[in-house]
Amino acid sequence: MNDIRNVIIIGSGPAGFTAALYTARANLHPLLIAGNLDPTTSRIKGGQLMYTSDIENFPAGIQPPNLSAYPSDEETEEAIANVHGLSGPDLMKRMELQARHFGAEMIEEFVESVDLCSSPGKVYTIVTADGKEYQTRALIIATGASSKRLGIAAEERFFGQDGGLSTCATCDGANFARAGATVAVVGGGDSAMEEASYLSRLDGIPKVYLIHRREEFRSSKIMLKRAQENPKIEFVLHATVEDLKGKPHPSAETVRFFKDKEVLAAAVLKDTRDGSTRELPLGGIFIAIGHTPNSEPFKNQLKMDEAGYIEHDGRMRALPSMNCASAEMRALEHVPGVFVAGDVSDHIYRQAITAAGMGCQAAIEAERYLAETLIADSGLSADAVGLSDETIAQSHWSSEREEGEKMIVERIAEAEECVAAEN
Ligand code: NAP
Repeated sequence: MNDIRNVIIIGSGPAGFTAALYTARANLHPLLIAGNLDPTTSRIKGGQLMYTSDIENFPAGIQPPNLSAYPSDEETEEAIANVHGLSGPDLMKRMELQARHFGAEMIEEFVESVDLCSSPGKVYTIVTADGKEYQTRALIIATGASSKRLGIAAEERFFGQDGGLSTCATCDGANFARAGATVAVVGGGDSAMEEASYLSRLDGIPKVYLIHRREEFRSSKIMLKRAQENPKIEFVLHATVEDLKGKPHPSAETVRFFKDKEVLAAAVLKDTRDGSTRELPLGGIFIAIGHTPNSEPFKNQLKMDEAGYIEHDGRMRALPSMNCASAEMRALEHVPGVFVAGDVSDHIYRQAITAAGMGCQAAIEAERYLAETLIADSGLSADAVGLSDETIAQSHWSSEREEGEKMIVERIAEAEECVAAEN
């Protein structure tokens, strides 16, 4: 049997690594179950950002400009002109290194199942695809979401900004604009309207097609109207994408890496009414047909919305599912020690920075939960061990942060000694 861990984090996107960083710095020795680098799975280690080339909207996530601490105006202007975002894999590697530097342990495995219902508030058991078992007092679920794909064979050939097929206009749109590409968005929901509107605002993009398989839309009326009235957006209705055609990569002759690579040249559309097909020339295509939260192992254990996003109580604490077999679990206001962060619980913002923020919140809540549990287990009051609610909370924003954390850890150790002495 494995040791019982203080905290296990499942997921290695911005939410997971941020939770790992915070819990590691709080000396909780977290274990992060990261997935691995198998590109055929949507649960790849590093998460959705592993499919994104340039990230330009993660604060401070830029190539370091060569700036002195007190630069002149000219130096600052030059640095501004030379700002470049990091690639998705680069950003994720940095997050991993930072979390591991502070003591987070990481394993490259996939989680197969999690038992939350058997003993809520005690020890949770996690089983990986290799059949290994891990036990933990606190669990942070940061398993993310996967973009839905069209399911056509050509999709994988063009996936990624270099190929021309993307699932994130906010992440990749600017590169298509720089290439002056005509692009299309597939879908008829709010995501598709939002992506099309966003792309239309990019100067370099001359035209945006919105391809949808019928003439009714799931999107809100206001977002639909905005897209319909946008002169740069042309709706192509009753159409599905059957195939994608490519042409040699522009650098195929000069750069060895691109020798056999193709870039998107056109989409083959099928008319859903009469089955006829036609080619639509395109430099980029964005698939915006929804996301699936990676919440499968928690079904019938945690409360989810209709689409499977895990709900929390505003403090990242997961809520019990009314389908849970255990009556004890169903009666709880929230599931003790189980926290959720990032895209698995967020269908609105879905940004790396919001996921990272939620990872931080979940970590602080987990830390607090462990301290409180320990005190409760000792049978002493928080006051008796000098660890009040306020003290726990304040240590996180104290200017003497390290001292605050050290104090908590020491007090917990003292509390443990108290428990041992009492037994
Ligand atoms: P969605 O509402 O489920 O819409 C998905 C769209 O993709 C539908 O139009 C669907 O067509 C189409 N689709 C699904 N599978 C397809 C396939 N294989 N081939 C072609 N088309 C396919 O998903 P969403 O737009 O991502 O929105 C999800 C949730 O997030 C919604 O609640 C939405 O309101 C919210 N959201 C809000 C905002 C905002 O308020 N700013 C922005 C984005 C998302 P059919 O209609 O024919 O099924």
